Amino acid sequence: MSNARVVTMHYTLTDESGEVLDSSAGGEPLQYLEGAGNIIPGLEREVQKMQIGEKKKVKIQAAEAYGEKREDLVVTVQRTQFPADAKLKVGDRFRGGSDDHSPVFTVLSIEGEEITLDGNHPLAGKDLNFDVEVKEVRPATEEEVSHGHAHGPHGHHHH
Ligand SMILES: [Zn+2]
Repeated sequence: MSNARVVTMHYTLTDESGEVLDSSAGGEPLQYLEGAGNIIPGLEREVQKMQIGEKKKVKIQAAEAYGEKREDLVVTVQRTQFPADAKLKVGDRFRGGSDDHSPVFTVLSIEGEEITLDGNHPLAGKDLNFDVEVKEVRPATEEEVSHGHAHGPHGHHHH
């Protein structure tokens, strides 16, 4: 029997300047399975210390959030590596492979035939602020543990 728990919480994510980047407010709260890497490690550790009904502001350093920016993930490739009909422009984002876990690249610049791509997460290198409210904590079911994610109140569904 596992001791894993499923946590349900509302959160609002803001960056250093206070701009809201993401929020569950007004929608379904976020549910995650502890210890399964469902959310960023720094946030999971902070929420683990909270009680049901507790509200808290937590600041997560970049290294404990989406990691520091890695220069080796910034690469320059030739336009010929893309399909001839690909319409690329700065700011475009695309997945570098066919499965859901392939890194996402952002087009940083296009100079002639050279295209510079950034494989860092858009939030890499950023310290993040979360306003968290813990709504519910319950033991995870065997099925949730074996799937590595929480199942919502409306039964079993996958994203
Ligand atoms: Zn499942």
